[in-house]
Amino acid sequence: QAYNERESLYIVLNYAKDFFVKNLQTEEGRAIGLSYFKERGFNQAIIDKFDLGYTLDGWDHLLKAAKAAGHSEDILLKAGLVLQKEGDPSRIYDRFRGRVTFTIHNLGGKPIGFGARILTQDKKQPKYINSPETEVYHKSDVLYGMFQAKKSIREKDNCYLVEGYTDVISMHLAGIENVVASSGTSLTENQIKVIKRFTDNVTVLFDGDAAGIKASLRGIDMLLEGGLNVKAVVFPNGDDPDSYSRKVGSQVFSDYLSDSAQDFIAFKISLFAEEAATDPVKRAELIRSVILSLSKIPDSIIRSVYIRQSSKLLEIDEEIIHIELNKILLKVQ
Ligand code: ATP
Ligand code: MN
Ligand code: MN
Ligand code: MN
Repeated sequence: QAYNERESLYIVLNYAKDFFVKNLQTEEGRAIGLSYFKERGFNQAIIDKFDLGYTLDGWDHLLKAAKAAGHSEDILLKAGLVLQKEGDPSRIYDRFRGRVTFTIHNLGGKPIGFGARILTQDKKQPKYINSPETEVYHKSDVLYGMFQAKKSIREKDNCYLVEGYTDVISMHLAGIENVVASSGTSLTENQIKVIKRFTDNVTVLFDGDAAGIKASLRGIDMLLEGGLNVKAVVFPNGDDPDSYSRKVGSQVFSDYLSDSAQDFIAFKISLFAEEAATDPVKRAELIRSVILSLSKIPDSIIRSVYIRQSSKLLEIDEEIIHIELNKILLKVQ
């Protein structure tokens, strides 16, 4: 039977998904992978829903099994499942070894890649290894969890945006299914277009550490530019949605999301409130940063609503905001 290359990639990626999922039920997989997931509070239902798996320790478990099942080395390479040995490209080995795996699906539910988490505290190894860009996995088009979330995003007319795989999964466990992850990279225009197919409303839930807050600010401006309505939630002292929901439980977590979601202006103000209250230079910086966000909003009616609100919250004349905005908008053109 003749398949074209894309079809062969989907088939081998689905084979790998099944292989990783089955590995979880082996002796090694139970002892290491399954017990890790259980420790994080992941039950069998959620493991099934997200096709979570395990890659056995060793260099060629997947390679051997896939070849025996008729998949070529060439297609395994093109799927990003194996790597060529440095200096000896004729020798290939499994990319993911001794890690738990998170299957990345396309919108139709087909596996297109994997994220794989280390289980030890070994600081020399990266915490996550991800599939590379392939013919079927264009990272800039994909948001983790969209396949499992899309129905709920439409129903709730809102999309929660988080950083990590485990944030998505923990939120499903807490009963919140309208959630996708950017997987730790900055948001792209195409990802925003995907969200827009399902809703115009995004609530950003990035990690409550310095990196997360920086990423959320950048993400917010991208989302505004994409014409989305943006809210944000900050988590207390360094928590992410996964750690926070496990700490406080599903009910408190859900209440926290509804009670502390702020629109992007209030979010920015609350981030800088302390500094800005006492330091006029910081206050000016905050105002500038809000005005820059305002300049990203394409819809002039929505923009004018936010201008009014900013003027009130920042205690600054609307006229001044307009003047500064016009400077920015003129520069852009
Ligand atoms: P966990 O709760 O398992 O520690 P996390 O999702 O909280 O994971 P973060 O450090 O907050 O991990 O990173 C957010 C996301 O960024 C991860 O889910 C992953 O997609 C990506 N990521 C993190 N570290 C790496 C890395 N070393 N290489 C590639 N991607 C990474
Ligand atoms: Mn983080
Ligand atoms: Mn995190
Ligand atoms: Mn985490």
